[in-house]
Formats: sequence, C-alpha cells, structure tokens
Amino acid sequence: MPYDDGAALSTVYSAARDGGYGFFASNVTHFDILLGLLRGADRVSADAVLQVSRDSAAFYGDGDPAVGLEAFCAYLDRFAERTNVGVFCNVDHVHLPDQRDFLDAVVESGVASSVMVDASDRPFEENVERVSEAVARVRDGDREMLVEAELGRVAGTESGVETVAEDAFYTDPERAVEFVERTGVDLLAVSVGTRHGVASGRDLDVRPDVARDVDEALRDAGHDVPLVVHGASGLSDEQVEALLGAGVPKFNKNTRYQYEYARTAADFYHEHADAIRPPEGVDDDRGSMFAGADWSPEKTSFHPHVVGEAVRDRLADVMADLSEATGSAGQSRYIDR
Ligand SMILES: [Zn+2]
Repeated sequence: MPYDDGAALSTVYSAARDGGYGFFASNVTHFDILLGLLRGADRVSADAVLQVSRDSAAFYGDGDPAVGLEAFCAYLDRFAERTNVGVFCNVDHVHLPDQRDFLDAVVESGVASSVMVDASDRPFEENVERVSEAVARVRDGDREMLVEAELGRVAGTESGVETVAEDAFYTDPERAVEFVERTGVDLLAVSVGTRHGVASGRDLDVRPDVARDVDEALRDAGHDVPLVVHGASGLSDEQVEALLGAGVPKFNKNTRYQYEYARTAADFYHEHADAIRPPEGVDDDRGSMFAGADWSPEKTSFHPHVVGEAVRDRLADVMADLSEATGSAGQSRYIDR
C-alpha cells in the first residue's frame, strides 16, 4: 500500500481517536529495525508510523541528514508497496532554533508525512513564536505535512536542562488551548510524566488525567488535535491503556527497539561465538581466512544476513504485539482498497 502524506495520516489518527485505539510511532535507528517493524505491522494489518530524527537521518546519510532523510523515505516508499497497510514517516524532534536548517531540508525534500518541531525547553512565548514560524514554513511546502509540537516538558535531560519543580513536567490544559490556537499545530505532544530514554519505567508518576483534561479542553474549544505521548518505552500495558482511554492516539517509542536490536544480536553472537572466533591454539590468521588451520569459521554464523534476519524477525514480533496492545491491529485504513 502507499507511503502516504499528511492528509492521509490525519484521517488515520482521526479514525484511531474515534475508535479508541492508537499507534506506537516507532523511531527507526537501523534498517533492520525498519524492515522488522514493517513486517510486524503488515502481519497484523496495522498502519505504520515510522519516525526518524535528525541524528538518525545523519546516520543514514553518512553524516548528511538531508541525504539520509531522502534515502530513508525512498526506502519506505518502495517497501510500503509490498505491504497491505498504510506507511507514514514522521520526522521526530527537530529542535528549534538550532536545527532550523534541517527543517528547511525536510520541507524542501517534501518526503515526510509529518514533522515534530520542538522548542519546548524555551519559555512559553518563545515556544509559540518558534513553532508558529515553523508551521508557516511547513505550510509553504509542496507536500502536505502535519506538524507536531510539544508543550510542557518530558522528564529526562533535554537540551542539558534538568527541571526540578515536578509540576513543570505536566502540560496545563488552558495553556494547551492557547498554544494550539496561536501556533496552528496539527498534533500536540503533552507532558504527562513519561521519560525519554533508558531511565524510563522507574518512579514515573504517569498522569492519564492530565492527558484527558488537555484533550477535553481542546475538544471543548473546537480543536481536532490528537495528543502525543513521548518516552513511551517504559510504560506498562496498563498505563498505555489508561492513556488510550484518555484520548491519546500516538505514542512515541524508540528505546525498546534499540534494546531489542542489541539484545538479539548479542544473544546470537554469544551463542555462536565458537563458530566465529578461532579456538585457543589456532593462529588469528584472518588474511587467509584460516587456510592453514584445521579450524575454519562458519558462514552460517558470521554472515551479516543471518543476524540481520534474526533482528528483523524479533522486531516484527515486537511490532505485532505492540499493535495488539494499542488496538491498531486489524484497523488498517487501507484494507480492501
Ligand atoms: Zn520525544
């Protein structure tokens, strides 16, 4: 099915909100993760939102994020055709003002479905100003792209700033309405007590009531703006369910996939170490591939495709399970088209 634009993604989120289900929007830090996630989403008929940050785009582009973003989206475009679900790309966390050049590249390439711009570490007025400028910039582009921005502050160290006042972590409903009205954003990332990064899951005071209050305030003011929760890797199934019930259709996840990648590869290489490393007493003669020894390494263990397939299989299972957990499994808007 197609790799689609912001207009189509908007209908996907609307249907999710109406149907009470949601999506894990998944950060992709490696191509094997991408293929695994697509396989899993396709297997359970869930539309897929894949995300790429500037850093990951730079990784794909060997240091050039603009090249990496185009390569990533071209890959998505080609591989979406092989699935029976809708596939979308969100550019995650374009920090303003320091990454404005990258925002220009995102708009000019016109390859993404949506983009998240982030000035949430700035005071409210500056956040409004920078996000408003970014929204105008995106609307100027040829491709229809949704814009997500953040109000509040997700815990964890962001831009080197540590917030001490606990209340500063949570998004204020009235401020959210003002922010949406003044910036014109399509999606709003709210701070409800989750945490970016590997520290997630510990001592979190996750507040679905905050999400519900913000969602209700926005609806009461006549705004159809889906909420987003970042830092979802440490949330329990119960917490995700409570946030879905509070009207959140999009959860950002990244860390879990990174761990699954490393864990799958680590387990594989640990298990097959004897087939790859020479035993004691055998010369480490890689140049001749150990031609002078009785021992030789096994291609079925060292070929990169073998561990790559294991990673893809694992990530597919993870994505299928996550899609069941958020209820997006079986809900693809592209079925029967
Ligand atoms: Zn985030």
